[in-house]
Amino acid sequence: MLSSLIDPILSFVYPTYCLSCGHRVESYSNTPACRTCWHDTHIFSESDLLCSRCGVHYGPRETANDVFCRKCDDHHYDRAFAVGLYEKALAASVVHLKETPKVFSNLRREIGNALTRSLTSGIDLIIPVPLSRQRRHEREFNQAELIAEVCSEFLRMPADTVSLQRIRDTPMQRSGMDAKARAASVEGAFSVTRPKLIESKNILLVDDVLTSGATASNCAEELQKNGASSVTVFTLARAVLTKL
Ligand SMILES: [Zn+2]
Ligand SMILES: [Zn+2]
Repeated sequence: MLSSLIDPILSFVYPTYCLSCGHRVESYSNTPACRTCWHDTHIFSESDLLCSRCGVHYGPRETANDVFCRKCDDHHYDRAFAVGLYEKALAASVVHLKETPKVFSNLRREIGNALTRSLTSGIDLIIPVPLSRQRRHEREFNQAELIAEVCSEFLRMPADTVSLQRIRDTPMQRSGMDAKARAASVEGAFSVTRPKLIESKNILLVDDVLTSGATASNCAEELQKNGASSVTVFTLARAVLTKL
């Protein structure tokens, strides 16, 4: 972690600009967003009402009961949770991690907080959502693996990047696609190559953003077919489909 003395010097010598609002990032550790954008980003807490399965956000929590949005009834994972809403600093972080293979300390801390707050049951294995071999080669790294590495440090267990593979390149999910189109685009795209490592495991499936949940659901289905006991999904951000 950067010391409070070195951080302002670094951000002065190598200025970076907020990917959300364009203002200068005052503190290197806040990269890729400025302090105001971090402050204005909705980070989830116990006072938020979220769907108990897919984690979609309803508003402030006024009941202790579980709520289910019912749109996620056919999703295969057991539960999904995220650091916060897909907006401002978290949206900037998702974009940033597709281009730069580094998770800065503010985001690391938020990942740790989210895991501490929301992981109620034990996890045996961390698996990032894989990219196809071709896309992994083009991009040189997988952003989901970077997030999984941070989870790995917090939970003190290695991330497994080989057991789940993307066997079919899927078209980039565009914002205009509805839930049905998204589900169809990832159908049969994933395969478990080492079922023995999956069997009877409680898995934390990690990705950058959850929108319709189609990708996570497809991975979870494949993991469950191969004997996984449970699949919990963790993402940096929770987006909502505007077209449902
Ligand atoms: Zn900003
Ligand atoms: Zn739901």
